[in-house]
Amino acid sequence: DSAIDNKEFKVYYQPVIDIHTEKIVSAEALVRWIHPEYGFIPPDRFIPGLEETGLVSKLDMYVFSETSRFIKERSDNNQFIVPISTNLSWMDFYDTNMLDNLLVNLKQEGGPHGYVRFEVTETSYAGMAEKNHSVLKAFKDAGASILIDDFGSGYSSFSTITEYDFDILKLDMGFVRKIGKNSKIGSVIHAIIDMAHHMDMRVIAEGVETEEQISFLRRHGCDYVQGYYYSKPLPMEDFAKMLNEQQSA
Ligand code: C2E
Ligand code: MG
Ligand code: MG
Repeated sequence: DSAIDNKEFKVYYQPVIDIHTEKIVSAEALVRWIHPEYGFIPPDRFIPGLEETGLVSKLDMYVFSETSRFIKERSDNNQFIVPISTNLSWMDFYDTNMLDNLLVNLKQEGGPHGYVRFEVTETSYAGMAEKNHSVLKAFKDAGASILIDDFGSGYSSFSTITEYDFDILKLDMGFVRKIGKNSKIGSVIHAIIDMAHHMDMRVIAEGVETEEQISFLRRHGCDYVQGYYYSKPLPMEDFAKMLNEQQSA
């Protein structure tokens, strides 16, 4: 609670790039804890603990409002902005208050329609009670898109995507890592992308670090890429600068 009050959590933004035009088309909000004593702490170090205690929902709410504020400020000032996704923890779906709040905030401060996105992992979707599927639908009706994160890393991938109309599928980094190292990976990536397109989803490949991976993904029909090859997650000011550069180009 005090870390939130003291603004120790910082939202970083990682650009998502159109694989054909190589322009920024969206971004993902990723939280970092800048601790006064321990310095920079990555989310993998504190999210699991916050999930155990249920505190993660407060943090997710905070990240969402920071992101909405960024979107709204830029669009109010007629500056170029792209849709930005916020990660939702599986824990959030057990917190009815948080979900209600999120929906109210989405309607009130979500900024222009179509710029808010939520990322849900297949594990959290699989563990979700049936009634929460309607929560996702309510988010969608309020103008948000729903992304399935880390697709292919869990156990229930295929049943998950038959049960809900996700807008975008994020191909897990684990697949991208295997490009050029595993001869079967091409068939799997190609099949997932093809299937996603047949289901009206676009595909973002995560963790793209090399030219070889990009040309491979392009050949296999991938739509968007996100990874260190183009940019690491950036503090808000640096990400804003990138958007400004693209706007003036
Ligand atoms: P994620 O949602 O799958 O986010 C993608 C992760 O991949 C990020 O790690 C990002 O920095 C990293 N990444 C991006 N491109 C590359 C690359 O080219 N190479 C490599 N090696 N890594 C890359 P990060 O920021 O450490 O976040 C880790 C996880 O923590 C996220 O995975 C997400 O599950 C969780 N997380 C982050 N922010 C939040 C948040 O605000 N709320 C919740 N609930 N979870 C969050
Ligand atoms: Mg994510
Ligand atoms: Mg991911």
